[in-house]
Amino acid sequence: MRVRFAPSPTGTLHIGSARTALYNFLFARHTGGSFVLRIDDTDAARSDAALEASIMTDLRWLGLAWDEGPDVGGPSGPYRQSERLERHRAAAAELLAAGRAYRCFCPEERLEELRREALAAGRTPRYDRRCLDLPADEVRHRLDAGEPAAVRFKVPSGEVVVDDLIRGRVVIGADALSDPIIVRSDGVAGYNFATVVDDRDMGITHVIRGDDHLTNTARQQLLFEALGAPVPRWAHHSMVLGPDGGKLSKRHGATAVGDYRELGYLPEAIVNYLALLGWSHGEDEVLELERLVRDFDLGRLSPSPAVFDLAKLGWLDHERIMALAPQEHERRFAERLPAGTPAQAAAALAAAFQPSLVRYGDAPAAAAEVLAPPPPPPDLRAAALAAEPQLAHVRALRAEAPEWLTPAGARELLAAYRAWGKEQGIGARALLMPLRIALTSAEHGPELPFVLAALDRETALARLDHTLAGPGESTPKPGDQP
Ligand code: GLU
Repeated sequence: MRVRFAPSPTGTLHIGSARTALYNFLFARHTGGSFVLRIDDTDAARSDAALEASIMTDLRWLGLAWDEGPDVGGPSGPYRQSERLERHRAAAAELLAAGRAYRCFCPEERLEELRREALAAGRTPRYDRRCLDLPADEVRHRLDAGEPAAVRFKVPSGEVVVDDLIRGRVVIGADALSDPIIVRSDGVAGYNFATVVDDRDMGITHVIRGDDHLTNTARQQLLFEALGAPVPRWAHHSMVLGPDGGKLSKRHGATAVGDYRELGYLPEAIVNYLALLGWSHGEDEVLELERLVRDFDLGRLSPSPAVFDLAKLGWLDHERIMALAPQEHERRFAERLPAGTPAQAAAALAAAFQPSLVRYGDAPAAAAEVLAPPPPPPDLRAAALAAEPQLAHVRALRAEAPEWLTPAGARELLAAYRAWGKEQGIGARALLMPLRIALTSAEHGPELPFVLAALDRETALARLDHTLAGPGESTPKPGDQP
């Protein structure tokens, strides 16, 4: 089995294309076949080496390594279409010689005119075959005179039946197809033809891609047949839609894989989510790559469009964050924090937020809740101040403790505070809430031991003093926030 993912380097990797890449990858791994990366860069004006590199970076980040490709080589290279132009031309020459293709001298203006007329009359634009039956000597003469000519494929009449592994039998009327240009007048093959010649020469057995290509598939199937090449098995998966039912696009939010990396999602969560978009796994939803490889079955992919659900992706990402080893989580959390965040603070905050974080991109905002809270609203401040004896006592405990507390040290301090409270007949809430408000300006937030461990002594004391100083002090003092 040989499959390929064939992006055009005219944009960054879209989340929908990543899904295509994933299904090709899973199919190859499941069957023990080869996963080929081919770069469809025949559109020289729009193709960009930097975009090619970014697509490869994104695929690698997702963990979708290819067996053959422009960087790793392989037996069917070169793996950029722009380096295979001679093969495309040779195949076009075969079709010309066999009478399956013809030269077309129609200038762009005429074709544009035909398009406009058809659209105005409500018809699908198609080439009117003016050049189909030009006498051979006229063709020779015009070519010799240097007149620009494209090569068109002569679409045979009758319908095309595409036997699809996901969608079953799809019938496409041949008259919907028009005679496609297979080699443009500049000698470069068009998408459909380059793809067929390369899929043939690379021994691709299964073409797995989005169903937006179905009309192309009909043309490509005819081209395989005309070249006398075996037709690969087709598998057209559904599109990813935005919540409003339109094709997932920028207006729905982030669409590029790189955007999701920036937002701090884990690649495993994205891969997991893209798999869930394709087929149902019953009860299990948090799935490792090995499980996806084991379960993958083209026949189980749903032909209906899938709606992208950011909340679901967030849930999967959160599940993965919770499952990470604490050190690994801490590393990922800390690298998102502003430079200069003390290591003790980063460690305590990472632990504090592991149970609630949805994506690592939220780490700075989460950390700021503790490291740089706004001043408390007046009612909270008044409530905290009403607990002056408690705050004074816990201030004394904090003043005696080391500059930085570990979470365990912070727990001990709080245990001492509660023991004192018990002697005084003060309940847990009346002890802890004023402390939380003084330290974070909020009634809710991460566990207090982590908050205490995230703030050095000076900062904690400054915040307690600020609350104890009463309502006159409405702006935080310098040094109150690290
Ligand atoms: N370059 C095409 C695309 O990005 C490839 C489609 C195909 O798989 O043939 O849509």
